[in-house]
Amino acid sequence: MTCPVASAAQVLTQAHGALTKEQRDRLTPEQVLDELKKGNERFRAGAMVSRDYRAQQRSSAAAQFPACVTLGCVDSRVPAEVIFDVGIGDMFSARIAGNVVNDDLLGSLEFACAVAGAKVIVLFGHTACGAVKGAIDDVEMGNLTGLLARIKPAITATQFSGKASSKDAAYVDAVARTNVLLGLDGIRRRSPILADLEKTGTILIAGGMYDLSTGALEFLDEKAHHSAVR
Ligand SMILES: [Zn+2]
Repeated sequence: MTCPVASAAQVLTQAHGALTKEQRDRLTPEQVLDELKKGNERFRAGAMVSRDYRAQQRSSAAAQFPACVTLGCVDSRVPAEVIFDVGIGDMFSARIAGNVVNDDLLGSLEFACAVAGAKVIVLFGHTACGAVKGAIDDVEMGNLTGLLARIKPAITATQFSGKASSKDAAYVDAVARTNVLLGLDGIRRRSPILADLEKTGTILIAGGMYDLSTGALEFLDEKAHHSAVR
């Protein structure tokens, strides 16, 4: 088995240094997305890059040039840097229960892309999400109540032929998927800055679902799903 070798288009696999501005700037958004897909494949194959985090920490201390930004759930089983197999300095990573998109997170995404130069946004949910189950069950508790309310539009918009219960894994995952699709719509609708960057091809905005049981990150085909959430 050959080890992943860093090439011009494979700069998210560096073992020692951190991403430089030159390396990041010459990547297209499509190449960055491709790198993330390859990173998840390495993770699933158990062929992750062996990184010297201390070397990456030192080489990125003065400045950062991340290629992408992810927005995922706080769930302990979905650490973005691990499941995409990237190193220190490669990605901005935002996490919130149920990967909901609120104004502060939109501001974080705008900073990552419009200020710091990230070229890809990946908004991803995951299977068996506790926040999604909580929203389905109308859980009310402290500040969690308001957060779960942000997932409820996905419940309303999900068409499901089986029993709409938090005990039905397929239903929970269907709502999580809808939640991602609505989140992508929300990013474009509520952030003219990000919508413009996407229109001009400066950034790509992608959605995904992570499978806890397989480790696979499935990128969603928004067009195919659009009729299901409208
Ligand atoms: Zn979750």
